[in-house]
Amino acid sequence: MDYFLGIDLGGTALKIGITSDKGVIVSKQSFETDASADAKTLAAYIGACALKLVRESSLPLKKIKGAGVGSPGTVNPETGQLTFVANLQMLNNYYLGPALEKAIGLPVFIDNDANAMVLGEFYYGAAKGYKNIIGMTLGTGIGGGIIIDGRLYRGSTYSAGEIGHMSIETNGLLCNCGNYGCIERYVGREGIVSRFNAYYIQKQTKSAIHQFLDNGAITPKAIARAAKAGDALATLVLHEAGTFLGIALASLVNILNPEIIVIGGGIANAGETLLEPAKNEMLKRAYVVPARSVKVVAAKLRNDAGIIGAASIAVDSLH
Ligand SMILES: [Zn+2]
Repeated sequence: MDYFLGIDLGGTALKIGITSDKGVIVSKQSFETDASADAKTLAAYIGACALKLVRESSLPLKKIKGAGVGSPGTVNPETGQLTFVANLQMLNNYYLGPALEKAIGLPVFIDNDANAMVLGEFYYGAAKGYKNIIGMTLGTGIGGGIIIDGRLYRGSTYSAGEIGHMSIETNGLLCNCGNYGCIERYVGREGIVSRFNAYYIQKQTKSAIHQFLDNGAITPKAIARAAKAGDALATLVLHEAGTFLGIALASLVNILNPEIIVIGGGIANAGETLLEPAKNEMLKRAYVVPARSVKVVAAKLRNDAGIIGAASIAVDSLH
């Protein structure tokens, strides 16, 4: 059996796993990302962590065919250069791929984490067996990945799939990207929480959210939990978020005519409370034939989606 390394690089956590060619994690470990290190030191550290995991797994290195890195920000997968990483800025313009190849002694393939997510779902998750797929991750931001005819679509400058920055409001909220009315501002973590607070704090709408807090805070996860327990306000806010999501889905369905749209990330834990209104809104707005045929489902890979997605970059590149 062949094995792959999956390296899920985040602003605070570095998760590394070894996966089998069936997409099963045989060994994994979490490390901290030192955000104050320089690029070279950080690359050496990632390499050392990966080799430590391999050593402790007692798998010979030659059984591992390659390593995939899921990185935040903009990545050039051809050269292995990270062009812009907002939360690890020392890596801007750094050739992380070649540095890791040298450190680990394996072929290394890098792509952004949203592309990793859709590849993970394509090989091992909810989109297995489909060829035309859109993946979305709903978290602090909204990421997207597009697979057309079984191949990841990266675009001419490797930035395709920025679904989170699709405009859904002409004069909407200002986004970090400089545009107004991006869907990320409404269905991202901050958008959902501030809409909840607008009802709960400003309009004093009743809610039992205090029973469902996430480490003491109102987060999309807390709101999803409250909605599951029947909280009316939490349900309303997720319903609104789903409706916004549906506006974006309608455009995606009209433009790309996918077979399946897979929704992942923390907020997707709300399940049908979010997806049902999204599908209804999409059906209202999109062309009838593609809208009726497309499946909109929650992601299958949950906690280990980052590692399995990263490993899938290597699987896909070595295919
Ligand atoms: Zn934006």
